[in-house]
Amino acid sequence: MLTESIKLQPGCANDVEPGVLSVTDARRHILAELKPVTAKEKLALRSTLGRVLAQDVISPLNVPSHTNSAMDGYAVNIADLTQGISHYECIGTAYAGQPYKKSCQPGQCVRIMTGAPIPEGTDTIIMQEQAEVLPNNIVQFSGKHQTGQNIRLAGEDIAIGKTVLQRGHRILPVDLGVLASLGIGECHVRRRPRVAFFSTGDELRSIGEELAEGEIYDSNRYSLYGMLTRLGVEVLDLGVIPDQPAALRDAFQMAAAMADVIITSGGVSVGEADYIKPVLEELGEMRFWKIAMKPGRPLTFGHLDKAVFFGLPGNPVAVMVTFYQFVQPALHYIASGKPLTPLTLNAVCNQDLRKRPGRTEFLRGILHQTDNAELSVTTAGQQGSGILSSMCRANCFIVLPEDCGDISSGSTVPVQPFACFV
Ligand code: AMP
Ligand code: MG
Repeated sequence: MLTESIKLQPGCANDVEPGVLSVTDARRHILAELKPVTAKEKLALRSTLGRVLAQDVISPLNVPSHTNSAMDGYAVNIADLTQGISHYECIGTAYAGQPYKKSCQPGQCVRIMTGAPIPEGTDTIIMQEQAEVLPNNIVQFSGKHQTGQNIRLAGEDIAIGKTVLQRGHRILPVDLGVLASLGIGECHVRRRPRVAFFSTGDELRSIGEELAEGEIYDSNRYSLYGMLTRLGVEVLDLGVIPDQPAALRDAFQMAAAMADVIITSGGVSVGEADYIKPVLEELGEMRFWKIAMKPGRPLTFGHLDKAVFFGLPGNPVAVMVTFYQFVQPALHYIASGKPLTPLTLNAVCNQDLRKRPGRTEFLRGILHQTDNAELSVTTAGQQGSGILSSMCRANCFIVLPEDCGDISSGSTVPVQPFACFV
């Protein structure tokens, strides 16, 4: 398919309103103020899955521990083959875990199984498909052979003394396997960041409560719970706090006493019931940002005692967008000391899109791979920042950069697959 890059609207490049921060700048400001968790704990191997290493792991042994056969076949000495010996006497069998202990003499070979140590006097493995077994334990080989073929050398995977995994690395399933192959049963990992969160709003009710007129169920605490749990942080759900300064003050103080990170949703715009701003100004050191993005324009970031604070917007989709763009990279840094920018790929957009230059727009998209392995994307229905159901249908954000205007069908657009957000 013919593709073209996003066209810039003439005269609109970098046209962000004064006093408004770009997404990249906001991410940079946040990162500059974070401190990674340094406390460690020692955990049994299985419990380290998803945790961040607080130590380098040095290999205490060679993997494989001994030079061994990569095939089921016959161990021979290449010199015999070179000298043209055609028939070999098979003198025994080497099994994985049961080495053949005697030495192999000229004109002899040893039957060998995958993983068995290489018998003394041999240096080459011939696979059994190239061997013909004749009467009286005599074996004849066909084909061409090279010294050392089909042999796995001791330490060829991991050499003793090598740094296998580095401090700051997040343990994945493969790492459990690698650590087990080294016989390592426990590791030092960093403490998980503790994240306290609550929703604010007089209109919010919890599941199980009756809804009176004008009330809605609190959904943000649930999507936040899901996103945070997937990240492997310690989650402290402080419930719904009404729009009352005293209640908010208590909730903030409680959260700051127990958490490294506090997240709230709602109350950060400039409505009459938006009390978070005055309470936060009284309790901590806060920045109230307007971000050049849609959805998610108002965002509060700051410090409450030792905790960092994210005041996310109230609209359910804006919560998820700002979480993935700002909070997830921040939590990744706090957990591991490593920065993380959401992975962005390019996809062909299959429809015209309206876009106002001067802000980054995050659209809910459906990404799929075409038969010729191209990525192509369409929007996932209504894009209002309260329409959470279109997030369910989506599997990516279409990220329309700040300086671009309308997109015509067939253009290439950046996308962030949701799979990359964990
Ligand atoms: P606010 O930022 O508090 O003015 O909220 C903006 C919009 O998001 C309003 O329609 C709120 O009712 C809605 N909202 C705020 N918090 C939540 C929540 N926890 N769950 C669902 N909707 C919410
Ligand atoms: Mg509110």
